[in-house]
Amino acid sequence: MTTTLPLKTPAIDNTHLSPLSKLDIPSRLLLGPGPSNADPTVLAAMDRQPIGHLDSAYLSLMDEVQELLRYAWQTDNRLTLPVSGTGSAAMEATIANAIEPGDKILIGLNGYFGHRLVDMASRYGADISTISRSWGEVFTLAELRSAMETHRPQVLALVHAETSTGARQPLEGVGDLCREFDCLLLLDTVTSLGGVPVFLDKWGVDLAYSCSQKGLSCPPGSSPFTMSDRALDKLNNRQSKVANWYLDMSLLSKYWGQSRTYHHTAPVNMTYAIREALRLLAEEGLAARWARHQETAEYLWDGLEDMGLSCHVERDYRLPTLTTVRVPANVNAKAVTTKLIEDHNLELGGGLGDLAGQVWRVGLMGYNAQKENVDTFLSALKQVLAQV
Ligand code: PLP
Repeated sequence: MTTTLPLKTPAIDNTHLSPLSKLDIPSRLLLGPGPSNADPTVLAAMDRQPIGHLDSAYLSLMDEVQELLRYAWQTDNRLTLPVSGTGSAAMEATIANAIEPGDKILIGLNGYFGHRLVDMASRYGADISTISRSWGEVFTLAELRSAMETHRPQVLALVHAETSTGARQPLEGVGDLCREFDCLLLLDTVTSLGGVPVFLDKWGVDLAYSCSQKGLSCPPGSSPFTMSDRALDKLNNRQSKVANWYLDMSLLSKYWGQSRTYHHTAPVNMTYAIREALRLLAEEGLAARWARHQETAEYLWDGLEDMGLSCHVERDYRLPTLTTVRVPANVNAKAVTTKLIEDHNLELGGGLGDLAGQVWRVGLMGYNAQKENVDTFLSALKQVLAQV
């Protein structure tokens, strides 16, 4: 059978398109704030044909991802799933599902991502109050208590691992405090999951989110989300619909739950990837994974000290996944990052917000948390510092 195109098909010109050559991506060592390099095993897992998102084989994969995610986060939350999108999608999912117009939220501001939470919460009509600390510092339990007494929020939102500063927020006692004030605890674990100890249930966290491209050694695009039964109760008793259709957990939970009701076409190959990444995490074991990150980071900190460089965050609160290094006086921070990528194929992060131009950000996350990468980085940095 021959098909005839309509007679008046307009001529289509592609001569102006320049990217007609095959994809050519440079090979980089990604030691910035993320994405980090993906584990080759994870990349291999993606390199398969998609299957239907309602195929029984896919449904089994979904169950496995949920189970592995609960392990990674140390939670029994039924509603634990990967959101289609990057960490910000999962971040917005926590806000969208926890906040109704007029709800009171208290947000910890000690870096860039607290400000993003404020922006998101404002778009959902929240009544926002904040508690602030300098970039690189963390909140004490007493400070949080005093802010809770003043503001009486329904949700307290904190960033566990502030990627803009390299500080780790201690969580001991915060969950109990929230229960005392009948408040939900929302936690950003984007730069901690898979690299830093996280105990969601032990800490009494009610809503949490993360990403795939850092501690999980996966490309970006499938972002862990979880909510406790307390948070689910709030969702089930809302007066208004969740103001974001795509991220509405009352709909998504039907696809991820018993009824498997279609919601949106899942990014099937990203599910292969995160399933493999989580399998690798379980195979290594959480304790071993955390120890590897800590040891690699300490090796970096010692090496930096030997070079006469100092870290921005106090050692007790320093994240192993992300280190902020103070830029020495008279050194142009940007010239260094540019030379590292141009001459060494090595990506290092610059400072953000209050720390712009003052620090570099070194990420050693997931697959990249290896001492050989620290050696490569320190040797490249020495060369570049001698040149700029
Ligand atoms: N929260 C933190 C602490 C982050 O570091 C990031 C990104 O790096 C995000 C949220 C947003 O995640 P994404 O860039 O994957 O959307």
